Formats: sequence, C-alpha cells, structure tokens
Amino acid sequence: MAEQEYDRIYEDRRYEMVEQLKRYGITNTRVLEAFLSVERHLFFDPENRGYAYDDCAFPIGCGQTISQPYTVAYMTSMLVERCPSGKVLEIGTGSGYQAAILNFMGYSVYTVERIPELFKRASAIFSALGLKIHQRLGDGTLGWRENVPYDGIIVTAGAPEPPPTLLEQLADSGVIIIPIGGSAGQRMTVITRSGDTLRREEFHAFAFVPLIGKEGWRDG
Ligand code: SAM
Repeated sequence: MAEQEYDRIYEDRRYEMVEQLKRYGITNTRVLEAFLSVERHLFFDPENRGYAYDDCAFPIGCGQTISQPYTVAYMTSMLVERCPSGKVLEIGTGSGYQAAILNFMGYSVYTVERIPELFKRASAIFSALGLKIHQRLGDGTLGWRENVPYDGIIVTAGAPEPPPTLLEQLADSGVIIIPIGGSAGQRMTVITRSGDTLRREEFHAFAFVPLIGKEGWRDG
C-alpha cells in the first residue's frame, strides 16, 4: 500500500478515536483538536502501528507502556481546565506522546524519564517530528530544579504519595495532576497551590505503572 493510503487510514482512525473520546465525556476542544492532529502511530514501533488508535495502553519496551488515549485525554483535560498555558513538567516521558500533545497545545514542555532506552527512543521521535520538547534523563520524583517554577506538573506513573519536591516546584496557582495509590490502582489526584496552601481533590480510579524513585516507589 502506498504511504499516502496509510496516512489516510491513520487519519480516519484518529477521527474515530476522537469520536470515542467525546462519547467517553472528553469535551475540551483544545484537547480534542490535539488528539486529531498528533499522529499517535508515530510513537509506536513500526510493526505495532496498527494498534495505535485502539483505546488501550500498549507496550513500548522496558516493561513500560504508552498510556491509553482516554487516560491521556483525561489528564490533559484536567490540566488545561486549571492551567490553560505556561510551563509544564511531565514526569514519565515514556513514548513521548503525552509530551507531544502538550506541545501541540502550546505549552512549554519539560519531560523527565528514568529509563535511558526510553529517553533515547522519545528523543529520536521528537527530532524526527521537529518538536521542541525539553528532555531530561533522571529521577523525576525530584523534578527538574533548573527550570522552576512550573505552572503545571503531570505525573504519568502511579505514586504512593505526591513527591514533596514536585509540590515545591509548583508555581503559585500551579497544579499537579498525579495518580496516587498502590499497585491495585490509583485515584487521579489534583493538587493546587495557592501561596503556602495546597488543595487536594481526588477523582476517578486508574491503573498506572509505578513511579520509581527517591520520592516514589523503591525499584524492585
Ligand atoms: N507519558 C507516557 C506516554 O505518553 O507514553 C506514558 C508513561 S508510562 C505509563 C510511565 C513512564 O514513567 C515510564 O516510561 C516509566 O519509565 C516512567 N517513570 C517511572 N518512574 C519514573 C521516575 N521516577 N522518573 C521519570 N520517569 C519515571
């Protein structure tokens, strides 16, 4: 099949994915536009691209996954409703798809990944797509001090508790979106800073891979 035909098929599948997200209750037009535009299949290995628009998480190597489209859309909606623009730190680059969605929406994106192979994989995808996303290899539970403060922090792995260092790196009125809970599942949690006060709200249940690091779960 010619490359253009594949592109048309992927475009149709993106449209179907967005229609499904709408049925699941995602309404923010900036989020839906980003999902329609960012080519999710390019964040999959070539042999797996046929699965890119299914609404499920998918392995990307090193025991990690690209999150389900609904989960990415849900977290992004939570962020954009509370923090429509500015500097966002993502913890858990993984495939790079969430970072690319945020970049498309006009945020200035900083993303941290702890696994070198995944850091390199995402870096290759960002350069191939010409995306200006700031990447760092390391323990994201300690944030990225050089660029503080962040208007938004999005953590794409499950944590036992919000890492105190990440809370410190939030701007005034900044917001962190983070799944909190044990291996059986986590509650999507939103913490908003207002001066020295932190307001915590809990939402739906999800199942993420663990956030491993000094202020997260211990490795192994
Ligand atoms: N946001 C990703 C995407 O769009 O594909 C999905 C992330 S995947 C569900 C979770 C990622 O968090 C994995 O790549 C994992 O290696 C990473 N991770 C876990 N603990 C971390 C830590 N302390 N710092 C940085 N990354 C971490």
